[in-house]
Amino acid sequence: MSVGKFLMVGAGLSGAVIGRHLAEAGHEITVVDARAHIGGNCHTERDEKTGVNVHVYGPHIFHTDDAEVWDYVNRFETFQPYKNRVKTTSLDPKGQRGVFSLPINLHTINQFFGKTFRPDEAHDFITKEQADTSIADPQTFEEQAMRFVGKDLYEAFFKGYTIKQWGMHPSELPASILKRLPVRFNYDDNYFFHKYQGMPENGYTQMIEKILDHKNITVQLNTAFTRDMGTAYDHVFYSGPLDGYFDYELGRLGYRTLDFERFDTQGDYQGCAVMNYGEESVPYTRITEHKHFAPWESHEGSVCYREFSRAAEPEDIPYYPIRQVKEKALLQDYVALAEQAKDVTFVGRLGTYRYLDMDVTIREALDTARSYLDLRTAGQPAPVFAADPV
Ligand SMILES: Cc1cc2nc3c(=O)[nH]c(=O)nc-3n(C[C@H](O)[C@H](O)[C@H](O)COP(=O)(O)OP(=O)(O)OC[C@H]3O[C@@H](n4cnc5c(N)ncnc54)[C@H](O)[C@@H]3O)c2cc1C
Repeated sequence: MSVGKFLMVGAGLSGAVIGRHLAEAGHEITVVDARAHIGGNCHTERDEKTGVNVHVYGPHIFHTDDAEVWDYVNRFETFQPYKNRVKTTSLDPKGQRGVFSLPINLHTINQFFGKTFRPDEAHDFITKEQADTSIADPQTFEEQAMRFVGKDLYEAFFKGYTIKQWGMHPSELPASILKRLPVRFNYDDNYFFHKYQGMPENGYTQMIEKILDHKNITVQLNTAFTRDMGTAYDHVFYSGPLDGYFDYELGRLGYRTLDFERFDTQGDYQGCAVMNYGEESVPYTRITEHKHFAPWESHEGSVCYREFSRAAEPEDIPYYPIRQVKEKALLQDYVALAEQAKDVTFVGRLGTYRYLDMDVTIREALDTARSYLDLRTAGQPAPVFAADPV
């Protein structure tokens, strides 16, 4: 097979993993990124003053059930064991402020209601005394939460946080967001159920640097993609925003953006990596104390981020795709436009306008690169989307 020349737009996980796979198959890869660093939104940076490895675009915890993806990341970086244990500050039913364990578990229930329930007692209490069983067919997030956990837990742990996070009242959001009973009747406070969980010892950027470290890969930073660049390559893998590829000619897909207000302290500010704030009156959603993501390191100074969520304006970094009815209609129009594009595949969280965890991003990137090589060998065109955005 002849050597191909491929352009990866974006030096995040999507561009790096696809680029590496094609480079190992003998092809020539150029990776461009508009930013001054690699790593995309997983970027981590060692803070000069404190030595803390900062998750620059918000906290990232690696978790997966996918053994191949786990082996893949461990090939490039040592992973330290790390379990995500989140706390939340909120008001109990008497209006007293307290710190509670998330996701809601037996400890949360006992502390919140001042009880000493065993698992089956807690289950009966929540499902028979708290849950609003008059709601037969919940339609909204609010109804679903009231149906499952009742007013007190809903207001303390879901309502204010959701309003701040999404800028929408839970009564305007679909019930599907809260799919099943979001409560554990034991003391398990591990946020994720996944088999493999961990944190790259020296951060995600170092891991991605090693993925990109191949003789067939050239990385160009501070280089924004323009469509005319594509003509110099056999194929473009584009992990930038789908609407951005078309210069927003149909309008902008809606995103939430995040503002991080950094503050530095000495010692231990909050005793954990992530503290949520459930009350609507507290303007931020959470505080992240970055050094707790690396408990195997020791630093006197500490770097914290207060996190605020709002609707993204054109100049903001797009974080979470909104994907409500209006956005999905516009997405359909962009998908139709993209289907006519040639020699480009849209990949990753921005290229397909979906929230993707890192493990899913890597899985899709590996599958995309493999199927691209198979189709190329068979002389067939590559699909425009690696995964269906709709
Ligand atoms: C706040 C937040 C927290 C998260 N936490 C977790 C977590 O705990 N665990 C987890 O598994 N996942 C988490 N994720 C998801 C994770 O960030 C994504 O899976 C990952 O970033 C996807 O990688 P990507 O390469 O597709 O996209 P990105 O990382 O966004 O990379 C895209 C790159 O393309 C570049 N680019 C865009 N447009 C252009 C252009 N025109 N020209 C050149 N370059 C361009 C951008 O600069 C960027 O570097 C989180 C996401 C967010 C938003």
